[in-house]
Amino acid sequence: MFGRVPKKSDTTKYYETLGASKSASQDELKKAYKKAAIKNHPDKGGDPEKFKELAQAYEVLSNPEKREIYDQYGEDALKEGMGGGGPSHNPFNMYESFFGGVFGGAGSSRGRRQKHGKDVVHTLKVSLEDLYNGTTKKLSLSRNIICQKCKGKGSKSGISGRCYGCQGSGMKFTTRRIGLGMIQQMQHVCPVCRGSGEVINEKDKCPQCRGNKITQEKKVLEVQVEKGMQHGQKIVFEGQADQAPDTISGNVVFVLQLKEHPKFKRKFDDLYVEHTLNLTEALCGFQFVLNHLDGRQLLIKSNSGEIFKPGQSKAINNEGMPHHQSPFIRGRLYIHFNVDFPNSGIISSEQCRTLETILPPRSSKRLTGMELDNCEETTLHDVNIEDEMRRKQQQQQQRYREAYDEDDEPSIPSVQCAQQ
Ligand SMILES: [Zn+2]
Ligand SMILES: [Zn+2]
Repeated sequence: MFGRVPKKSDTTKYYETLGASKSASQDELKKAYKKAAIKNHPDKGGDPEKFKELAQAYEVLSNPEKREIYDQYGEDALKEGMGGGGPSHNPFNMYESFFGGVFGGAGSSRGRRQKHGKDVVHTLKVSLEDLYNGTTKKLSLSRNIICQKCKGKGSKSGISGRCYGCQGSGMKFTTRRIGLGMIQQMQHVCPVCRGSGEVINEKDKCPQCRGNKITQEKKVLEVQVEKGMQHGQKIVFEGQADQAPDTISGNVVFVLQLKEHPKFKRKFDDLYVEHTLNLTEALCGFQFVLNHLDGRQLLIKSNSGEIFKPGQSKAINNEGMPHHQSPFIRGRLYIHFNVDFPNSGIISSEQCRTLETILPPRSSKRLTGMELDNCEETTLHDVNIEDEMRRKQQQQQQRYREAYDEDDEPSIPSVQCAQQ
């Protein structure tokens, strides 16, 4: 009686499905649907296919606009989208808004617009060695996936009922009068169905996911940290975030976070390292081994006769960071030299005279007795200038605070008095 493929001009099938006459009122159609839906509900051993047909028929006939199109042109016209002009071209959306209070229908989720799931962002700590050499990090993450057993329907029969709390919209509106004829409308997630718009009969719930439509999955992601990647760079796994019904899964995003290196600093593709020479090395030459980030040993040495001054920098080409995506191109390695001077008292006056024969002559000439008589004696004290400055600043702040408090003082007791 109810053929799966309707004839083009069939304008009676929906009425026959519901068991209503072509002239039935909205109320009669509703009653007819209710009766048939209860009788054919899969929970009570009804045929799910028939149940779907009922839902489809009622969806169209309960909408006056669609009913008119159906009455004139049949089912195909509706499928071809002639039902446009209403708030929605999709018969399932329309159906949802019409279905309140009545039993469930099948396939309601088909018509919903897909939401975009949230991206999940993790920070991934990496060492400078990791960024220099490249590495693979395995990370175990758990996420929600669509239940495999029920294919995300949440029920054994594949049927879910409309939530009575929100009429299937998943959202609830409350209105509040805020005076002078003004009404504020607020929208919030339906607490009954938690936004899904559906409720599932207890007996029909999928045993795997208990009607939640989703289950947990543990997944190991292999994060490829490529040579030359930067601090803050993102590695994206598209669509690997939580799955949910009617949702396009978001991405899992790893943001690289560089751990500070005890020796090397990085700026773009260049590396910076500090090295302290003692005075003999600075004056007479040096050589030392620098362990690079890939374990190679670089021999660093001065040229013969070369003197290194405190704060001087030198560069070695192609020993910086590999350039991301063209790792054979590398930046420079800069070495900043400090010079550690010997401690006081280490050189005797005799040795000083020897040094004077090698080093440049003193720039200050010896003062005569007369010149000395005209001067006042002074004492040089040891000082840590940074500490000194910090202490001075603190003192100044303290003084400022005290001055401020004094100004305020009369008002404090008066407030206390007022409270008593
Ligand atoms: Zn399930
Ligand atoms: Zn609800």
